[in-house]
Amino acid sequence: MSARERQGLGKTGKGPRKTGTGKTGKGPGSRLKCPICRKPQSAEFRPFCSKHCADIDLGHWLDGRYAVPGAPVSSEEVEKDAEQDDG
Ligand SMILES: [Zn+2]
Repeated sequence: MSARERQGLGKTGKGPRKTGTGKTGKGPGSRLKCPICRKPQSAEFRPFCSKHCADIDLGHWLDGRYAVPGAPVSSEEVEKDAEQDDG
């Protein structure tokens, strides 16, 4: 058996073995980014990078809920909303 033959056999490559090139891209522990400013998330303010961005996102929510253009909100509905607040 020559050395070449052995190489050929070894190159059929259906094995689970991976060469760690580190270019897998998606993987466990990949860092997510702040949806507001695309900076790396902070563990403390996930999924945001900082309290600043968390506040911005919160502001968007409040905007959508309480400042709907052309949709008059009766005092009754406001009270309902207050009840559902389980923050
Ligand atoms: Zn941010």
